[in-house]
Amino acid sequence: MHKAAQPSQAPIDTPAVRRIRRALLAWYTRSARDLPWRRTRHPYPVWVAEIMLQQTRIDQGTPYFERFMEAFPTVEALASAPEDAVLKLWEGLGYYARARNLHRAARLVAHERGGQFPETADDWQTLPGIGRYTAGAIASIAFHEAVPVLDGNVKRVLSRLFDIATSIGQAATERRLWALAEALVPARRPGDFNQALMELGAIVCTPKSPSCTICPVRGVCKAFVRGTQAERPVRGKKPAAPHHELVVAAIEKNGRFLLGKRPPSGLLGGLWEFPGGQVEAGETHEQALKRVIRGELGVELRVGGLAAVVNHAYSHFKVTLNVYRCSIASGSPRPVTHTGLKWVPRAWFGRYAFPKANLKFLKAL
Ligand code: SF4
Repeated sequence: MHKAAQPSQAPIDTPAVRRIRRALLAWYTRSARDLPWRRTRHPYPVWVAEIMLQQTRIDQGTPYFERFMEAFPTVEALASAPEDAVLKLWEGLGYYARARNLHRAARLVAHERGGQFPETADDWQTLPGIGRYTAGAIASIAFHEAVPVLDGNVKRVLSRLFDIATSIGQAATERRLWALAEALVPARRPGDFNQALMELGAIVCTPKSPSCTICPVRGVCKAFVRGTQAERPVRGKKPAAPHHELVVAAIEKNGRFLLGKRPPSGLLGGLWEFPGGQVEAGETHEQALKRVIRGELGVELRVGGLAAVVNHAYSHFKVTLNVYRCSIASGSPRPVTHTGLKWVPRAWFGRYAFPKANLKFLKAL
C-alpha cells in the first residue's frame, strides 16, 4: 500500500490565495464530475488516466480508460502484456508514444522497483513519458504532495484569473504560469485543488464563452473585472499545418492483405499499417506507389483501381491517403522500413492496432 509523501515546499499563504483555494475546493466538492478514475486515489489508475486523457476529450477517453483497466487491472498485468495488446487498446486515441512509454514505465515499476510506485513528483519524472505536468498530477492526487499542475485548461484559467497579457507560447509566460500554479497549490488537499483548477477550465472557464456568472472565483478574477476574458489567454499565431499527399498500397494475394509493423519508436511506432508513402513533385500516384513499395518491400507492384481517398489531420500536419488495390508483379516482400510483415485476411483486421488514418479506409477494402 502506498503512503502519503510530505509536501515539497511551503505553499504561499496570502488572503487572496486563500480565497481562491477555499472557493475552488468548495466548488470542486459540490460540482466535480463523477469520473471513473476519480473514484480511487490509487496511483495506478490515476497514472493511466493522466496519460490517456492528455490530448483527448473526456467523453472520448472514458471508454478507453474503462477497457484498459479491465484488460490490465494492475501495473503487473500491464507489465506482463505484449506491446501489441497495449497498442490495440490504444487504437484510435493517437499519440501512441504515450502507450509505449506507459508500458515501458509499468515494466520498470513492476520488475525493477518491486511493484513500488514512485511517491514524489521528482521520482515520477524519472519514468519514461512522465513530464512535470503528469508527475505533479499523480503525486498530488495519489500521494498528497503539494506540487502544481499546468495543462491547457490550467493555463487558460490562470491567464484569466491573473489577466496575463503575454503570449502563453512564450517561455517566460510559461515560467510565470508554473510559478502561479505553484504558489496556489495548498498543503491540504493539493490533489483536489489541482483537479479543481483543471475541472474549472473544462466546464466553466471554457475557451469560448466562459460561464463567468456561475464561476466560483469570479470575485477574484482580474479578467472578469476588466472584461478581458475573451482576449485571454493570448496566443501567438500558429503557422498553417503542412499537407502531404500519400499513396497507400492495399496489396492482396489469395484473400489476404500485406501489413507492415512500424518501428517501435517515432510517429505511430509499433502499429500495423498498409505500406505506402509520400507522392513527390511531378509523380503520378502509380509512379509514386511503385517507387515507395520498391523501397519499403523490395518488390515490383502492379497497381489496380483506387479503393478509397481519406483525409486525416495529425497535430502538426495533414495528409490525404489515396488507397489503391495492388498485387505483386515480381519479387518476395521483405521488411526494409518495417520490423515485420504479415499477410492478413480481412476478417482478422480487428486483431491488429492500426493508425486512425488506416482505420478510415478498412471498410472500403
Ligand atoms: Fe474564467 Fe470567468 Fe471564472 Fe474568470 S470569472 S476564471 S474568466 S469563468
